Amino acid sequence: MDGIDTPRTQANLVLLGPPGAGKGTQARMLEEKFGLVQLSTGDLLRAAVKAGTEAGLQAKAVMEAGDLVSDEIVIAILRDRLAEPDCANGVILDGFPRTTVQAEALDGLMEDMGADIRVAISLEVDDAAMVTRISGRFTCAGCGEGYHDTFKTPAVDGTCDKCGGTEMTRRADDNAETVESRLRAYHAQTAPLIDYYDGKGVLARVDAMRDIDAVAQALTAVVREAVA
Ligand code: AMP
Repeated sequence: MDGIDTPRTQANLVLLGPPGAGKGTQARMLEEKFGLVQLSTGDLLRAAVKAGTEAGLQAKAVMEAGDLVSDEIVIAILRDRLAEPDCANGVILDGFPRTTVQAEALDGLMEDMGADIRVAISLEVDDAAMVTRISGRFTCAGCGEGYHDTFKTPAVDGTCDKCGGTEMTRRADDNAETVESRLRAYHAQTAPLIDYYDGKGVLARVDAMRDIDAVAQALTAVVREAVA
């Protein structure tokens, strides 16, 4: 079925997976399909860095090194964003939680809101392919649509398919060395959350080595069932 499939009750989803797994791309697809709001702590932190806020100043060097920003900063940023009215139907968490402390804090926030994590989806990929995926990616500065030099090029070179914008940006941390640190941080601190959500009985695994459309189809099926 095409069009928006808005869940009947608040449905919050978590996307887990290493950098390059496709969390951002798939979150944007799910956002359109299910009327949920994508919450990317990476995007929120990059906005804080750009705005020069206190949190942004503290996060900048850590992000450039490919390490994790402190739980305290990230949880505070997420808590504020979750309180905004557009999150009322539910959110797709992209890049949060990344540590057990964050996952436990999220459970507390959900409880306070009388909500829950309906499903946590692990995007399963091979690390070896992630460096190529990340090195080629770029984003429309106007609307945030993501592209890739090989896997997803705009129909007209240099022009965004979605909004017609012509300014494209590449992330400072999307380089080979930083990607290695980001993958290490993922395996050390975030991968254990797969067991955390499995233990709660809300884990789904999706093979994310396939092309973008095939992964989107698999994810849509998982989310449709979870929010039904
Ligand atoms: P992302 O856009 O999700 O790849 O995140 C980019 C960078 O932001 C990461 O490499 C971290 O430095 C930081 N970051 C984003 N989300 C989190 C989080 N939940 N916990 C700690 N650091 C984060």
